[in-house]
Amino acid sequence: MNLKKLIFTPTVILIFLIFSFFLNAEKLDRDLQRGFDSIRPMDAYNYVKTLSLPKFAGRHTGHEGYTAAAKWAANKFKEWGLKPLSKKEGYLQAYPSPYTIIDKAEMFLFLEQKEATQQKEPALKKIKLEPGKDFLPLLFSDSGDSSAGLVFAGWGISAPELGYDDYAGLDVEGKFILCFRGTPDRRDNRYQKHDHHRFRMKTAKNKGALGLFYIYAEPLANPNGDWIKDFTPAIISESVADKILKEKGTNSKDLRSDLLTYKKPLSFPLQTKISFCVESRHFPDGIGYNVVGYVEGFDRQLKKECLVVGGHFDHCGEHMGFLFPGANDNASGSAVVMEIAEAFSKLKKKPKRSAVFVLFGGEEMGLQGSTYFANHVPTQFDKVDTMFNFDMVGEGDGVGCGISPKPEGLKKALEDSNKFVNILRRSRFFREVGVRSSDYAPFFLNGAACISFASNGPHLAYHQTGDTIYRINPDILADTARLAFLTGFTWANR
Ligand SMILES: [Zn+2]
Repeated sequence: MNLKKLIFTPTVILIFLIFSFFLNAEKLDRDLQRGFDSIRPMDAYNYVKTLSLPKFAGRHTGHEGYTAAAKWAANKFKEWGLKPLSKKEGYLQAYPSPYTIIDKAEMFLFLEQKEATQQKEPALKKIKLEPGKDFLPLLFSDSGDSSAGLVFAGWGISAPELGYDDYAGLDVEGKFILCFRGTPDRRDNRYQKHDHHRFRMKTAKNKGALGLFYIYAEPLANPNGDWIKDFTPAIISESVADKILKEKGTNSKDLRSDLLTYKKPLSFPLQTKISFCVESRHFPDGIGYNVVGYVEGFDRQLKKECLVVGGHFDHCGEHMGFLFPGANDNASGSAVVMEIAEAFSKLKKKPKRSAVFVLFGGEEMGLQGSTYFANHVPTQFDKVDTMFNFDMVGEGDGVGCGISPKPEGLKKALEDSNKFVNILRRSRFFREVGVRSSDYAPFFLNGAACISFASNGPHLAYHQTGDTIYRINPDILADTARLAFLTGFTWANR
């Protein structure tokens, strides 16, 4: 053997070994590959399409449209051989869910006419507002029909304990409140309680108001609140608010920026009158459902700890002839949870811990289904070890994650899994939950580690009738499901 050949042979072998090492490093074992391959873009897309159909009426928790959709998903869980919650309950975990349907609403403005100042009484100009475009009742409004005065009250917060009161010195008895959503200082957690819709509505009602009108860029569907007798709240658009605020020589943009800059109340009565008529039906005995099925872990001890893979199944319903299909919010997350469930069901070798798949009710009403589940974990499990949440994962071309900083290794499991799909665009640690958190919040508060997935959007039809199947990207659904399936398996098997 000559020298050249002697050097060449080990070099070739070495190169071959390095190559095969890297090839192996990027290859899944056959069992995982089978689960991975069962996740298909068009399957996920078709689930979103089905859930967005008019027959499910926008999946308003408590309503028959939601219940029919929940039964449809429960059948899929059964088809894949997931274990049910219990023999008695099957795949449906029931909990109380009062809800309201708005049938009709009309709003008129009576604007002060500046030109008519020589008259004793200012002349008022009547303007009919267009539902859906100019205003929309909050989707928990009582029926009512009132014409009344209007009072601007900053953020609608009365917190004397914090030395802040938008209502100080105001007479709002028998009037409507006009205000923004938010708090004087976003970074000040002490205001958080006051920023819940239900809390703000209660405050207004206790002060004697007939209703509260939020100023939003444009009206959107929002069922997150409690029905209050003789109280008719709504959202009005910024452009309508600007018509009203003109009498004070200001507009919503400037007012908002003043409130944020000076962090002091800035409230005043208005000359404009408003007439608001709502016809709604309230169902205090509504029942909501979480759809639950699981794959049991193989380790005798660790199987009692579970990974919850969940997303909210509900959306805002159908009101006044407007269907809110919620394709992206959150038929997309539901479809991804379903695809992951199917993939886990295909595994011959299950992970050590159990994987529980949950489609939550009532997220739009304020995390009601997930809160109920987190506080009523099925008795076959001792605790929820980790929770993966999917909310609005259908629009865009990449995925972002909020992730618990602890335990260590969770982020690495996610990043290692991402090598197979390359879809993760950013991740950030979350250290606390707030008013705007999604369904991971009650699990996080109970001590579970969490990852919350959302696609990069732009989510332009958020809570509007335009959140349809046409906005959904099938590939982003599948890749998100694949990423979470691999991460979930690795993590539940640790
Ligand atoms: Zn959502």
